[in-house]
Amino acid sequence: MEKYKDIGLKLTPQRLAILGYLEDNKEHPSAEDIYRAVSKKFPTMSFATVYNTLETLRKKRSILQLTIDPAKKRFDPNTEPHHHLICVKCKMIADIHRDYKLPIPNKERAGFEIIGNQIEFYGICPRCKTTKSKGVLEEPLAL
Ligand SMILES: [Zn+2]
Ligand SMILES: [Zn+2]
Repeated sequence: MEKYKDIGLKLTPQRLAILGYLEDNKEHPSAEDIYRAVSKKFPTMSFATVYNTLETLRKKRSILQLTIDPAKKRFDPNTEPHHHLICVKCKMIADIHRDYKLPIPNKERAGFEIIGNQIEFYGICPRCKTTKSKGVLEEPLAL
């Protein structure tokens, strides 16, 4: 919670609950996930409170906003540079803490000096793989 002290947010009990939910959270929750969890304790809390708090945290770089899930923004309280894996079935996101040195040929750099990268991997998580091998997810999707 220390790192949130200086971001200029008035720490109301509702905001503290949001920060508490985010702290050390490795699930990469969406705003909806956070709202669902925190409004259990604060039934009067509005979605706008969650959204605005996340916006402030993002602007202050206290959380990362991930775009890896095309369906919704996901948030990451871990602001250290790291990469992500996403399950294309259940949208579970896992962290990868490893430096990837990706050599980019000079002519592909558009004149840029490269200072970092963030890599997104797509796959099937172990749980979805197990479910599939049991033949449960084989129903055709109604699209
Ligand atoms: Zn999965
Ligand atoms: Zn992450």
